[in-house]
Amino acid sequence: MPSFVIVEKCDGCKALDKTACQYICPNDLMVLEPEQKKAFNQEPEQCWECYNCVKICPVQAIEVRHYADIMPLGSSTIPMRSSNDITWTIKFRNQKTIKRFKFPVRTTPEGSIDCFKGKELPKLEDLKKPGFFTAPARTE
Ligand code: SF4
Ligand code: SF4
Repeated sequence: MPSFVIVEKCDGCKALDKTACQYICPNDLMVLEPEQKKAFNQEPEQCWECYNCVKICPVQAIEVRHYADIMPLGSSTIPMRSSNDITWTIKFRNQKTIKRFKFPVRTTPEGSIDCFKGKELPKLEDLKKPGFFTAPARTE
């Protein structure tokens, strides 16, 4: 079931040029209604339910209605991100039972990864050679 925006919560990412949900959707489905400044999913039937927009929305204004067999109508699954972890709040259909699950999203400090550290920059002629730039150096 596709994503949908809770209009009361959406603030249009404070009228930035491109909203967070527009930026993240791999299928370019999210658009901003220009007058009300509210986002919506323009083609719900094309939604992959990847949860990217749900996770990135800074005000938790997007939900994905999960399949009824595992997530009956009336329940909700809402993420809250921080720089180090993500907490999922699961509200059951009875609206009373709430469970929270917190997971780390990274194990290193933000900005600390240098993926080219210790690597020699490739030369143009390397394009003709087999192998990958990131492959470990061959010993034989
Ligand atoms: S990311 Fe959230 S607040 Fe921003 S436009 Fe999309 S739904 Fe609205
Ligand atoms: S769930 Fe994924 S595919 Fe669907 S609108 Fe959100 S970002 Fe796009």
